[in-house]
Amino acid sequence: MARQIRWRPEDESRELIFAVCERFLRGEKAASIARWVQRHCQRPSFRRTQIYPLLGAASRLGFFQLLPPLERQLAADLRAVYKLPHQDPESLIVVNAPGPAAHDHLTTAAAALVVRLMKRVVEQKRRSGVPRVEVHLGLGGGMTAMMVSRKIARALAAERELPPLVIHTLSSGGFLPNEPQKSPISCFSYFDGLPTEIECVALFTETVVSSDDFGLVTANPAVKCVMDRKNEIDIVVTSLAAASDRHGLLRRYLEWLREMGGIDEAKLDRMHQNGWIGDVQFRPYSAAGPMDDHCGVRAVTLLEISDLVEWANHTISAKSFGDQGKQTGSFKYIVLVAGPCAECGELKTVALKPLLENEKLRVFTHLVTDVATAQDLLQKAQEQMKK
Ligand SMILES: [Zn+2]
Repeated sequence: MARQIRWRPEDESRELIFAVCERFLRGEKAASIARWVQRHCQRPSFRRTQIYPLLGAASRLGFFQLLPPLERQLAADLRAVYKLPHQDPESLIVVNAPGPAAHDHLTTAAAALVVRLMKRVVEQKRRSGVPRVEVHLGLGGGMTAMMVSRKIARALAAERELPPLVIHTLSSGGFLPNEPQKSPISCFSYFDGLPTEIECVALFTETVVSSDDFGLVTANPAVKCVMDRKNEIDIVVTSLAAASDRHGLLRRYLEWLREMGGIDEAKLDRMHQNGWIGDVQFRPYSAAGPMDDHCGVRAVTLLEISDLVEWANHTISAKSFGDQGKQTGSFKYIVLVAGPCAECGELKTVALKPLLENEKLRVFTHLVTDVATAQDLLQKAQEQMKK
């Protein structure tokens, strides 16, 4: 007797999966949807119980995303306590998604924000009368930025009209040889197949170089021509890592390098002794501000912390920062996604707090964070006030 082949939702055509989901989300009853499939798709044996696995398949295919609720009061409190700019209501988003799924929902909300900012950029450029309206995205490395990038691409697939896109990577290759998926280069593939013109601008160089050689490396014509284009970027997507978190890519890479004999223990200790508290796109900082590379090596990156601070200040100080699409001219948006560690769930509050408090570290125009981080930030500020 021939073995029956097990039905898998992924085997159904995309058109059928989409049609079923659309009807289900409209509130149509499962039995009625099943009858519709039987009649209109020539599938007399289709059952209503097959609908639920199809919803899962649709989600995996990126047909829909669930946007988590936002905590507006917590955002307002945080804004007041840390004196964050308030003209643009979207400049601080607190995602109400506690628990293990917090990171996933946070990146969904961040991606949705980036898509809205892209529309703002298009509008601004049209008003400015630039001959070619294209949007330049600067995408960072690391797990969080990668997840946001993937979701941006998914969200763009659902847009009716897309401007030409130019994708810039903020750093070169991956850090650890066994984790190529965290390299920003891998994000180019997410945008494949979008119905628009896409240009990729990759920073191809050694990931980490001796600090003394940085000038030499960036003078290389292949690197220089990419570096020279950094000012074209309209929207930067970045996260941060806490030096205390063993999953931070910079920390893991430096520890790996020490194990491989690339740097000695004393040099790494010097980073900690000098107050290393976190990094943004592999550029380290202490609570006092951006810090020197005391370990003798540094990542090759398109942007320094000081570049991000300067760009953010320029945009925030514009009178019409909050008027979506009303600005003209060149404004840059920096979306900092600051949730718990994607791998262990540890909060990054200790590393995030200086980015809110110290003007030399205000690397963002838009901050997307989660409830747990926001509550921890508020509590830490209140404890500080009591002292
Ligand atoms: Zn971690």
